[in-house]
Amino acid sequence: MTVSESFQHYVLPTYGRFPIVPVRGEGTRLWDETGKAYLDFCTGIAVCSLGHAHPRLTAAIREQAGTLLHVSNLYQIPQQAELARAIVTEHVELPGKVFFGNSGAEANDGLVKTARRFGHKRPQADGSPRFEVLTFNQSFHGRTLGGIAATGQDKVKEGFDPMLPGFRHLPFNDSAALETAIRPETVAILLEPIQGEGGVNVATPGFLATVAKLCKEHDLLLLLDEVQTGFGRCGEAMAWRTIAPALEPDGISWAKGMGGGVPIGAFWVSDRAIDADGTALSSLMGPGSHGSTYGGNPLVCAASLAVLDEIRESNLAHNARRQEQRIRAAIESWKLPVVTEVRGKGLLLGIGLDASKIAVPEGKTAALVVVTKLMELGLLVPPAGPSTFRLLPPLNVTDAEVDEALEKIRQVLSAF
Ligand code: PLP
Repeated sequence: MTVSESFQHYVLPTYGRFPIVPVRGEGTRLWDETGKAYLDFCTGIAVCSLGHAHPRLTAAIREQAGTLLHVSNLYQIPQQAELARAIVTEHVELPGKVFFGNSGAEANDGLVKTARRFGHKRPQADGSPRFEVLTFNQSFHGRTLGGIAATGQDKVKEGFDPMLPGFRHLPFNDSAALETAIRPETVAILLEPIQGEGGVNVATPGFLATVAKLCKEHDLLLLLDEVQTGFGRCGEAMAWRTIAPALEPDGISWAKGMGGGVPIGAFWVSDRAIDADGTALSSLMGPGSHGSTYGGNPLVCAASLAVLDEIRESNLAHNARRQEQRIRAAIESWKLPVVTEVRGKGLLLGIGLDASKIAVPEGKTAALVVVTKLMELGLLVPPAGPSTFRLLPPLNVTDAEVDEALEKIRQVLSAF
């Protein structure tokens, strides 16, 4: 039985999968089962931030796997404590505390639970808890019941109602709409500083300023989903700092790139005082409030620590910024009418396509047509919505690899 036959018979068909079977990777290269080589500018959708089989990450995993894979969160886990310390003091650089889970959706569920606790602690005028979390159109927050309720896209909700209550979606980057949207039951605003799955849409500084102002005025939590954008991907440790450096969030979620390929997610909650007694926001998630069997086990924490140390020590966020400039300059110089714009920051870039210039077969999108042609040429990139494809190379991608990828993109796009 071939791999694709096994998929047909035994794997739930929830994904539309391309017909390639990757079996080995090294750095930015990936090889499929036929031996064909690809440049990987998909990286598991912004996961393999150090590329494939990075020696430092591989060594950390080998060492930890041979020492202690897993113990329960009933006990103290030194790798978890060290990773939390590194995240708080070296990457977020704001006082707070971290909870470790296994994915981005789970991390966002944790933020929503924190918001609900906050809504009990600081209720409405009539004493009933606040609970409503405002999110935005085209957002993506994951596939759990909480994640799809939070996500501002109908396609993830279809056939799964009733939705978890307590979410409302507003237009992204629309400060006026947000100003009038807050109700007595509203308790938090959750947003991606740069929407990834929704097409690579960057929050404007003015919009983030309005979010921060309204959170202060209405005693709301400001929650950032940095699952796709965090840890160097967008040119700073945290993506919000590339847009509004002075912003101080109350909660942040991560996953993807923080593990470099091991399944890990996390959320951070600020230590800031939420009342006159000095109660810390982070103290609301006390013993028994949340948990995850695998969350923060020695293996994934040792791996994530190696990834985050490598990102920081090698200043890979700077490489992300530098490569962004090189990519933007090259694409601009082509002056191709099929390219509408380049959106995003660092190495989360979306290339917008003029779909009217592309012959799109029934049931496909312009982005899928381009992504498929690039794959044939040996470049892997993911789509982002119907008319955008993303460039998500490893953060340590070299000039030569970027140039090689750009040449393939130019070749494909010049045909339209
Ligand atoms: N939030 C954002 C911004 C994402 O891009 C994603 C995944 O693409 C998620 C949450 C969900 O993460 P996961 O698939 O790890 O649950």
